[in-house]
Amino acid sequence: MPKDNKKNITNVCFSCEKPVSGTAFSINTRVNLPVCKDCKGTGKEKQAENELLKSLAEDFVCGCI
Ligand SMILES: [Zn+2]
Repeated sequence: MPKDNKKNITNVCFSCEKPVSGTAFSINTRVNLPVCKDCKGTGKEKQAENELLKSLAEDFVCGCI
């Protein structure tokens, strides 16, 4: 069993949820998730990013206080 503390990141674009492979995607450094070249740099990516960060922030608030 491989030692991996990070959750298993599947190669799926976090914006459109299309499977990505090879070099046809980049990692969005804010959410640390793959984004396909079709979504990269688009408003769609930004929107998905913001929603993801928002939901993460809400989880943190609920977990800590
Ligand atoms: Zn995409």
